[in-house]
Amino acid sequence: DIYLDASATTPPHLDVITKLKDIQFECWGNPSSIHKVGVIAREILERSRLSIANKLKASSDELFFTSGATESNYLALKAVSNNLDRGRIVISSVEHPSINLIANQLRNEGWDIKYWPVDSYGIIDLDLLEEVLSPPTKLVSIIWGQSVIGSIQPINLIGMECKKRNILFHTDATQVLPCGLIDWSNLNVDMLSASAHKLQGPKGIGLLMLRKGIQDLLMKNPSYGFKNGSIRSGTESVPLIAGFSTAIDLLNEYIEVKDNQTLFPVNNVSKMTSLLKRKLINNKHLTFIGPDKERLPNNLSFLCHTEAMIPIKGREIVRLLSKHGVYISSGSACSSSSQGPNPILVAINVDKTFQESGLRITIGPWISNDDITSVSNIIFESLKSLELKKQ
Ligand code: PMP
Repeated sequence: DIYLDASATTPPHLDVITKLKDIQFECWGNPSSIHKVGVIAREILERSRLSIANKLKASSDELFFTSGATESNYLALKAVSNNLDRGRIVISSVEHPSINLIANQLRNEGWDIKYWPVDSYGIIDLDLLEEVLSPPTKLVSIIWGQSVIGSIQPINLIGMECKKRNILFHTDATQVLPCGLIDWSNLNVDMLSASAHKLQGPKGIGLLMLRKGIQDLLMKNPSYGFKNGSIRSGTESVPLIAGFSTAIDLLNEYIEVKDNQTLFPVNNVSKMTSLLKRKLINNKHLTFIGPDKERLPNNLSFLCHTEAMIPIKGREIVRLLSKHGVYISSGSACSSSSQGPNPILVAINVDKTFQESGLRITIGPWISNDDITSVSNIIFESLKSLELKKQ
């Protein structure tokens, strides 16, 4: 079996599984207890937090653990906006559904929600910058790396422009962190969401990074639970936090961020992705979509069709490939179980007849050269068999 759906989730790394098992056995205490069992759990938790902070060039007290990026996104937008005077919130037109959901809630609460449109490659239109950042914009949230079409947004530039105008800036970095370490000390970002299960860590644990001034905004609002000066209530899961830290330890290369550009490390994942791209790009059943350069280095996305350009539904191919032990996606996992046009393909203006024809391949460190050869052969054969069926 070959798993090429890394942006949906990843198989936990063996080191992560070992860590989870060890901590579950040995350090199951409540980190808030003041006796020895609790103190040991607290030590593991704080050591893990420090280790992640060091890797991401942040300070420990800027790191908050959540249940995943969905909750991080929720806390960032909902809790912060609850503490600001009503105005405008700007999000891109290619956000994860979790951001769209909160934005809709906030609209019902009296906020003006503006969608920052993207071009046909999925990159936001910087010509609109002055307009979207004009008063009364209070908060901007832009996905750093798009999960369906891989487009990378110039978040450092947008963050800098937000800072100049006193606008809070959040980015969803869930799909970026698996591609390399983030240097928080060098980012013009106030809030950042990420999730462990996208980088071979455990499910149910995420990260919200917050600059110092913003933490007060969240802690002011007790409805989101504050406990011991945290932004979140509940007993922390020490094993999941330790497992997250182990997953981050496995990342060793940094993403370089210049004003307008995100430069990813060249590694086995990016090499395997380029290799598969070269094998699939001239396939008569596939049309490559999304940007060429400003793109997540593990992401390939296509529209599927017959040689005569009759659309084929992505879900049909996903099911067929699954029978052959190849696992890919027709969009993001959060929308692939629902029927109908893919909202990201709608946002990049894909022709209506092709809006259900998306196919996404996302590669992880477990993929080898031989896997790429097998996968491209299986994809070729499967598309050919579908073509014959349609004739
Ligand atoms: N944001 C993005 C960009 C994602 O791809 C995902 C996962 N599909 C999420 C947020 C939600 O992450 P989690 O599963 O950790 O809640």
